[in-house]
Amino acid sequence: MRGLLVLAALLLAAFCKERFEGHQVLRITAKNDAEIGLLKELSKQEDLGLDFWTDPVDQSLPVDIRVPFHSLQGVRAFLGYHEIHYEIMIQDLQDLLDKEQREMMRARVLQPRSTDDYDYENYHTLSEINSFMDMLVQENPKLVSKLVIGQSYEGRALNVLKFSTGGTKRPGIWIDTGIHAREWITPASGTWFAKKIVTEYGHDPALTAILDKFDIFLELVTNPDGYEYTHSSNRMWRKTRRINSGSSCIGVDPNRNWGTGYGGAGSSSNPCSETYRGPGAYSEPEVKAIVDFTKSHGNLKAFLTIHSYSQMMLYPYGDTHKPCVDEAELDELALKASTALESLYGTKYTYGSTFNTIYQASGVTTDWAYDEGIKYSYTFELRDDGHYGFVLPADQIIPTAQETWLALMVIMEHTKNNPY
Ligand SMILES: [Zn+2]
Repeated sequence: MRGLLVLAALLLAAFCKERFEGHQVLRITAKNDAEIGLLKELSKQEDLGLDFWTDPVDQSLPVDIRVPFHSLQGVRAFLGYHEIHYEIMIQDLQDLLDKEQREMMRARVLQPRSTDDYDYENYHTLSEINSFMDMLVQENPKLVSKLVIGQSYEGRALNVLKFSTGGTKRPGIWIDTGIHAREWITPASGTWFAKKIVTEYGHDPALTAILDKFDIFLELVTNPDGYEYTHSSNRMWRKTRRINSGSSCIGVDPNRNWGTGYGGAGSSSNPCSETYRGPGAYSEPEVKAIVDFTKSHGNLKAFLTIHSYSQMMLYPYGDTHKPCVDEAELDELALKASTALESLYGTKYTYGSTFNTIYQASGVTTDWAYDEGIKYSYTFELRDDGHYGFVLPADQIIPTAQETWLALMVIMEHTKNNPY
């Protein structure tokens, strides 16, 4: 009977899921501003149902677009007519997603009984990650605790792992993953970081020294409603799950919802946009919870928010081309961190201010964190740089986490050695 119920649940889940058969992801390299302009025009054609994985900004950055099957012919004709060069980055998105699902199903046969058994080489559901957190706390009660800093729009707990070796009023380092729902590599890497911290404390002198001075706060699934939705319904979901009054479109971009620069260019007032900023600054409970936590803590010294993809390290500002006061130091530190990252597997990162490296983006996390007085504020964009995009194969989780950890260590050590 139980087997039948499980089967029924799986079938139901499969039927409720949005399918992406025949969807292709095209990688477009624009030659000039005129072509960028044409791509911007294309992005306004809502009936095409295009999903811009990266936005048209200038010639230096490729533009990746998920094109639904019904729009493929039209989009290719448009590109051909204007002689805009493109390559097929993903031939059939559903094929990739099916493969990802098969691997996850295989992993789920074995329920881990400890964090040693946990399958770090695979993607996991929200409830699996929640169980992981509980096991980690149970196994390391002197080092790890779980804080609930608020509730998501749909009422899920916003859990933060706190790594602390004691003391009160210690300065803190903040790391969040999974604020954009479909960027699965980020909570998967975060889970690996969590295990790494408990394994290395007391063994790795550098990490031990950091934890003897600082607490580390790690929010693994920063947008749990969105993350759950990517598993139950639509793997390509990015935003929160807020119901927008007066619109049938759901969700707010939690990385355009912060108060610094809120409402500026590089965010949208249209609830149907993937960069919809929301009805007001901090409207999203997922964002507000971090703001409240940060303010009540009052002593965070580094703020690292992890996204994917593009292989970048970004510091403030996103809403203006003007350099932040600490630009020289942040730039030098980004060079050191990206050099450390590259040393492991040769993964190359670019770095710079958000505005100058990708595009103008207003109301983003790191601009807010920096203006709160947290100097070492960085946005990471993890692997890859244009093969799988958001559907990074699970066999890249551990290498991605390992190399990213080296960069995080450089930033955390620098934070320790340069008190302010
Ligand atoms: Zn993101």
